[in-house]
Amino acid sequence: MKLIFLGPPGAGKGTQAERIAERYQIAHISTGDMLRSEIRNATLLGAQAKSFIDRGELVPDSVIIGMVENRIQEDDCKNGFLLDGFPRTTAQADALGELTEIDYVVDIEVPSERLVARISGRRMCPDCGAAYHVTTHAADTCDKCGAKLYQRDDDREETVHNRLVVYEKKTAPLIAYYQERGKLLTVDGDQAIDSVTDSIVKGLAK
Ligand code: ADP
Ligand code: ADP
Ligand code: ZN
Repeated sequence: MKLIFLGPPGAGKGTQAERIAERYQIAHISTGDMLRSEIRNATLLGAQAKSFIDRGELVPDSVIIGMVENRIQEDDCKNGFLLDGFPRTTAQADALGELTEIDYVVDIEVPSERLVARISGRRMCPDCGAAYHVTTHAADTCDKCGAKLYQRDDDREETVHNRLVVYEKKTAPLIAYYQERGKLLTVDGDQAIDSVTDSIVKGLAK
């Protein structure tokens, strides 16, 4: 199975992607996690991406498309994959369409007034990419691997606003794009985490 998770920053794409990828035994591909790892490893790609990420802008399509093209050819993608945070522009969606056929695009809907609180309280694991929220996770270490959690620089309020504007302008048009292609599955993301997972599983089983 090949899936795309669409939705604004803070919608719960990463949280749900981890669960769904495990359930269907497919690779979880988060372009955000990949870029953060490139930055940590001080690669050329990381250097190219950093200034865009820090400003809450999208990394140029040319950089991202090549990265995803290589990634989906790896062995762990043989059984399928879940793209979390890609595509984010029509050009990326067109490029992906040239590479492979996607089964479903899951659009996780959350009212915009909820997103800032979700993002500003997010704490991330640097090692496994798991996301927690300060209101529901008191410890400052990852439950899965024990690493010390951190707050992403781009999750600070100054940058969050621009990320939401960029989402509306560049990524939200993909909802209609995939609707027209008969791929869209819309899920209410404004429910408890387990309920969102159930809604996705039910939608995929239809
Ligand atoms: P995205 O990958 O779409 O940016 P995340 O999965 O990282 O979103 O979730 C953003 C923040 O919201 C995290 O702190 C996460 O713990 C929290 N979160 C995710 N899903 C829910 C939910 N259904 N209800 C409340 N908080 C959530
Ligand atoms: P979130 O989960 O909050 O939506 P991500 O971790 O997916 O954020 O992405 C963080 C940042 O990485 C984005 O704001 C953007 O700068 C960059 N990025 C990630 N995926 C893409 C993509 N497909 N195209 C362009 N930039 C991307
Ligand atoms: Zn971890």
